[in-house]
Amino acid sequence: MLASCLHARRPDIGAESNDVLNKKEKQNMTNFTGLKLAQPILRAVTDEGYTVPTPIQSKAIPPLLDGRDLLGVAQTGTGKTAAFALPLLHRLSHDIKKARPHQPQALILAPTRELACQIGDSVRTYSRHLGIRSTVVFGGASIRPQITTMRRGVHVLVATPGRLLDLMNQGFVRLDAVQVFILDEADRMLDMGFIRDVKKIEAALPHQRQTALFSATMPGSVQGLAGGLLNDPVRVEVAPEATTAEKVEQSVLFVPKDKKRALLGDLLSDQDIKRVLIFTRTKHGANRVAQHLDRCGVRSDAIHGNKSQSARQRALKDFRDGRIRALVATDIAARGIDVDGVTHVINFELPNEPESYVHRIGRTARAGAAGIAISFCDHEERGYLRDIEKIIRQSVPVIEDHPYHTAEIANDTGPSRRAPHHRKRPGQRQRRRNPRRSRQAA
Ligand code: AMP
Repeated sequence: MLASCLHARRPDIGAESNDVLNKKEKQNMTNFTGLKLAQPILRAVTDEGYTVPTPIQSKAIPPLLDGRDLLGVAQTGTGKTAAFALPLLHRLSHDIKKARPHQPQALILAPTRELACQIGDSVRTYSRHLGIRSTVVFGGASIRPQITTMRRGVHVLVATPGRLLDLMNQGFVRLDAVQVFILDEADRMLDMGFIRDVKKIEAALPHQRQTALFSATMPGSVQGLAGGLLNDPVRVEVAPEATTAEKVEQSVLFVPKDKKRALLGDLLSDQDIKRVLIFTRTKHGANRVAQHLDRCGVRSDAIHGNKSQSARQRALKDFRDGRIRALVATDIAARGIDVDGVTHVINFELPNEPESYVHRIGRTARAGAAGIAISFCDHEERGYLRDIEKIIRQSVPVIEDHPYHTAEIANDTGPSRRAPHHRKRPGQRQRRRNPRRSRQAA
């Protein structure tokens, strides 16, 4: 069942993150030994090459070790998995008994199989010197081996909501012994329509427990959910919403829909675009773009909900190992993917939910690194672009001196948009804009 899950180690995350820390955060920084974690956990962390906790870790681990509930605003790539997994394992390590059949002591809920897999990998890594058993259950894979594992018993269960409910309904999982409940990527969980599932799962949990909820963004719906799940939580935040946008060099090209594929082929002739994640809105769109790239001689693959779990894992591995240069993805499939060194993100189609834009471009700005994001915007997507600019609180620079730039689309609504300074062609590095100034201008 445990399909080999992808989880890149990033030993330099602590150092990278230091660049973006403010003075107060630097003072709060401790190294891991100062965090009062059990020795076997510290050993596992050292094995991984972690020396300095990331900001979310130094903020979240102490209150979680104190048994507090927690509301964490943090994106994937900030080290948030260890932020909740280390205290959870520490708590269980006090009294490790044989795992009871069907009754996990800790439950981690994640919206997608990929994310659940990555969390499962991390939990296994961090608990390798403890006698703690863990497993991951998710849909789209055979339920039988999952049932067998639950029969034997695990201490920590990582699950996606649908499959967990399935297993609960069939009597293979009971949640009445859960001491710690983690809800990861709550915003995406709600976007994907899992609210009722989450509520059903919560209703099966004991009242006496520790709960932590993590979310990259904090819209009202997530706050409402948090209000019902958490008891007097500590709120920790590693960066204000949408700050990823400030680390990414963004641009937009106004181009008619039927020219987008040709434009993409043209852009990818630039070999500086080494590892590119391309987003489409639909599964069919993703397939069509990947096929087009193959025809253009660009090694690529597509991941989306219609692909089998193994095909998705294979495509991700090929992308991570550099066997393919371009990965075409829909939002849901790409969510939470931890792939290092994505040089460019191309929004072949703009997302209709502006938050997705922030998640998308964040794939190229992992843990403090910079990246480049280029968006294609056709006539019908002008409104999407406006919504995006509202939430990132800046206007996205327009590339006007490009053969595919179509002034008619650019000038379609409202006053014409002007590039604030000379723009190079996409793929080349631009001077970074002062984000504060652009926010004021927006
Ligand atoms: P996450 O946000 O939990 O998906 O973590 C992103 C990446 O950072 C993963 O590859 C982790 O293995 C790595 N990581 C987490 N914490 C640290 C740390 N303190 N030092 C170095 N790498 C870390």
